[in-house]
Amino acid sequence: TRRKLVAGNWKMHGLRAQLGEIEAIAAAASRNTGVDVALCVPFTLIERAVAVAGELPIGAEDVHAEKSGAHTGCVSAEMVRETGATLTIVGHSERRADQHETSHDAWAKAAAAHEAGLRVILCVGETEAERDAGRAERVVQAQIEKSVPEGAAASWFTLAYEPRWAIGTGRTPTPDEIESMHSIARAKLSRMVGEEAAGIGILYGGSVTGKNAESILSLEDVDGALVGGASLTAEKFVPIIEAAA
Ligand code: 13P
Repeated sequence: TRRKLVAGNWKMHGLRAQLGEIEAIAAAASRNTGVDVALCVPFTLIERAVAVAGELPIGAEDVHAEKSGAHTGCVSAEMVRETGATLTIVGHSERRADQHETSHDAWAKAAAAHEAGLRVILCVGETEAERDAGRAERVVQAQIEKSVPEGAAASWFTLAYEPRWAIGTGRTPTPDEIESMHSIARAKLSRMVGEEAAGIGILYGGSVTGKNAESILSLEDVDGALVGGASLTAEKFVPIIEAAA
């Protein structure tokens, strides 16, 4: 059986002044032993976050696919690992949109992160136009096909379904739509990695809050949540952790 994972994604938020939130989130995580919790923060905050987080795993929001090289402004998976982070997000839709990253890029980053010893949360999800055109399922299947690395295994790999139109908008798909996409995603994973797919967690992300967490997290094939805005403070994030526990 798959344990639920509630992961926060701080995006481009977080200065040292917010380290107290991380301490409070870590305290809640250690009280709620029935759920795994993790927090992905900006590179600049990782080392200090690790220092205050105790047992709470701290992650990055992205890594470069190469170990090192002439890539001004980029950070490798090995560098991230050295800070004490134990996981990273790759393929987030904001990077796909803002930095023009492709599924192939996400694939290479996921493989590099795994090689460096990081857990990986790989994001996929359709745009609103793709959903309106009835193409959401095909788009997500194609993203999975192109971005999930060979040998993806439950021990280090988690998928996150994040419809782009649900991110930061306060809108979410219906429970049926979420359930249907998660079951399609798991079927696709099982065609790629076989029986291992049954153990791989599939998170939902996009406007998850303390109010809707319980109903979303109770859905079949939803193994947790990837939370943006509502992970920024303990006050908002802890109820989501509790709903999953
Ligand atoms: P919100 O929870 O702010 O909608 O963001 C979701 C997200 O993109 C997490 O990666």
